Amino acid sequence: AADLPHVTDADPTAKALGYVEDASKTTNPKHKAGDDCANCQFYSGGPTGYGPCALFPGKAVNAKGWCVSHSPKAG
Ligand code: SF4
Repeated sequence: AADLPHVTDADPTAKALGYVEDASKTTNPKHKAGDDCANCQFYSGGPTGYGPCALFPGKAVNAKGWCVSHSPKAG
């Protein structure tokens, strides 16, 4: 797959969703321990590095990132 530009914490959508590149760094009270992009149903990348998120079209999020829209993968 082509390399998509990475979402940064400064991205307007990222700010709106409280996205952080490192889930361990968030202070958002909605974050539950262990939740990150890699185990979110909106993420379609690999377990490490960066991959697509349905909420950030055309960009890639960090597998270890997180935002308030996190929803656990089914199964
Ligand atoms: Fe990460 Fe899921 Fe938020 Fe997308 S919706 S940024 S994959 S936690």
